[in-house]
Amino acid sequence: MATKTKVAIIICDRYHTCAGGKCLRALHQREGAFEAYRDQDVELVGFTTCGGCPGGNIEYAPEEMVKNGAEVVHLATGLLVGYPPCPHLDHFIAMIPKKFGLRVVVGTHPIPQKYWLLHGSLNTWTEPRWDGHLAATRADEKVRLAYD
Ligand code: SF4
Repeated sequence: MATKTKVAIIICDRYHTCAGGKCLRALHQREGAFEAYRDQDVELVGFTTCGGCPGGNIEYAPEEMVKNGAEVVHLATGLLVGYPPCPHLDHFIAMIPKKFGLRVVVGTHPIPQKYWLLHGSLNTWTEPRWDGHLAATRADEKVRLAYD
């Protein structure tokens, strides 16, 4: 593997007790949003929560991540699949690159099938902007089921 990318993860504080199991598994297996690194080494250099609505920790935490060499921040899949999805997502996507010079990727692990089905029945993701937000994590049904 020729290149190595240093990444950090910010999770939704609703899941602040999460041990990162699905994100770390997906990182190891290069699934979901981490599939983009399938031909690269990846190093996780930061992991934290947004700090709770409206995400105040995102004003500060990326600075530490940058000091550890982070190049990319992944906003975890929980921001997409919570009920409701994070209402501040688009703001974070716009702010992080401008303030910290980091690339933002929406999502970490593949969307679990149970969330896929319920949000589908709720028509959560019908606006066009969701196409881009879900692109890295929608996966196929077999993979989604593996993350249920
Ligand atoms: S919904 Fe958004 S701002 Fe609120 S806790 Fe979750 S990630 Fe943070």
